[in-house]
Amino acid sequence: MIEPEEGTGAVLSDLLRDLGRALHGRLLLPSDPAYEAARSIFNSMIDRRPLAIVQCHDASDVSTAVSTAQRLDLTLCLRSGGHNVAGNAVRDGALMLDLSQMKGIDIDTDRRTVRADAGLTLGEFDRANHAAGMASPMGVVSMTGIAGLTLGGGLGWLNGRYGLACDNLVAAEVVTADGQCIRASRDEHPELFWALRGGGGNFGVVTSFEYQLHPVVQVLAGGLVFAWADAPRVLRFYDEFVKAAPDELSTAVSLWVTEEGEPMLSLAVCYCGPFNDGERVLAPLRTFVSPVTDDIQPVDYPAWQCRPDAGFPDGRLHYWKSGFLREVSDQTVEILMGFLSQMPSAASGVGLQQMHGAASRVPSSATAFAHRAEQYDLLILSQWDDPAESDQNIEWTRSLFEALRPHMAGVYVNNLGDEGSERVRAAYGANYTRLAEIKRAYDPRNVFNANQNIVPAGPGTS
Ligand SMILES: Cc1cc2nc3c(=O)[nH]c(=O)nc-3n(C[C@H](O)[C@H](O)[C@H](O)COP(=O)(O)OP(=O)(O)OC[C@H]3O[C@@H](n4cnc5c(N)ncnc54)[C@H](O)[C@@H]3O)c2cc1C
Repeated sequence: MIEPEEGTGAVLSDLLRDLGRALHGRLLLPSDPAYEAARSIFNSMIDRRPLAIVQCHDASDVSTAVSTAQRLDLTLCLRSGGHNVAGNAVRDGALMLDLSQMKGIDIDTDRRTVRADAGLTLGEFDRANHAAGMASPMGVVSMTGIAGLTLGGGLGWLNGRYGLACDNLVAAEVVTADGQCIRASRDEHPELFWALRGGGGNFGVVTSFEYQLHPVVQVLAGGLVFAWADAPRVLRFYDEFVKAAPDELSTAVSLWVTEEGEPMLSLAVCYCGPFNDGERVLAPLRTFVSPVTDDIQPVDYPAWQCRPDAGFPDGRLHYWKSGFLREVSDQTVEILMGFLSQMPSAASGVGLQQMHGAASRVPSSATAFAHRAEQYDLLILSQWDDPAESDQNIEWTRSLFEALRPHMAGVYVNNLGDEGSERVRAAYGANYTRLAEIKRAYDPRNVFNANQNIVPAGPGTS
């Protein structure tokens, strides 16, 4: 039996009690032992207390909760994987919808599609598809949620060959602001379907996603680690090399420091075609400068997808800054080299995730994800443990970002923190106006505003 908190108004108490009774899942109030764990998310900088948490069991729970939030005039916030750095999944005083327990997955091997519930993590999704001999593009850390990742775009190791996660979306089940459950696809609510593919969860609660699958079982993948002294030469070679590489190859750069404080450069590669071809394609990158280590080898795709997981444990404080970079120029290398040696936390790093091939060729207006080009998603990923070190880490991150800013254009919505409306506009780019029109059609009262928010179109908003 759920007892609303003492001090909650009598009407609100009754309505919350009604909500609890109507659910197939659970309603958690602050007095519930499960509340603390349910309100916590990946980024420990975020410490917020929702009024109540609905642990949704199905789309009907989502619909009930969305309608109740509006009757009670409560802010709604949505948590799926809970990994977004901005922390919009949890808001003080809000009704938080936690979809993380919705984990159904259903593979259609004939059609090569998979229907996946919003609460799945990348690891759960990848492992189920792998058992059926297939894969669909996602990101590169297995604890991340498929929901937030797909709705923002989804850049990972298969992007060169098969595009972004959102490019592989075939359909989505959505609970809209008026509590209706609808399906969006190319033929059903096509404008909504367009907006879901990069619009960052602004248009409703997606309860399940249907994706295209591809015959990927093993990949030729691994890392090359280089001495810091070789980093400028390697980066310049790398930039030329990857731009000419076939779609099957997707790559990423990491700049990091050892426990002894020594800066290092790593290149990670993933080739999803025949291994003989991959060995040939990769040979120049492996021999141009001798790496300190080279562990490129055939590996099961889900195992490769888990490889960086240990670097992102729960409980750390995170502050990120990011932008798209068209080339690794001499100037950017110089800036990065200068800042890395001063990085305050050994757990931090700078990553350049390559957007390439199929992902880069989709026209910018074909989906809501606007930033299509051969380029890098540059992420200054600062993480540390001690709150006393927050100011120092944030300051370093901001300074590096400001130094790099003239070389970057646009930003990936899924990397944004709480950075203001100008950066939100930069994330949606040229697609913002169309997104605002679709927002007006599907969520005119901006019920779904705990996100990188698109304001419904109207007088003075375009
Ligand atoms: C360690 C780490 C590695 C990452 N690596 C990559 C990567 O390789 N590639 C990449 O593209 N991104 C990557 N990301 C970024 C990631 O895509 C975003 O953090 C994404 O938002 C995470 O989704 P989530 O479901 O876990 O997030 P949540 O925090 O649960 O949700 C984020 C936001 O998405 C919206 N949302 C969530 N669920 C729903 C839903 N069901 N319906 C509607 N809206 C919803 C809400 O606005 C919510 O605030 C990484 C993040 C982390 C922390």
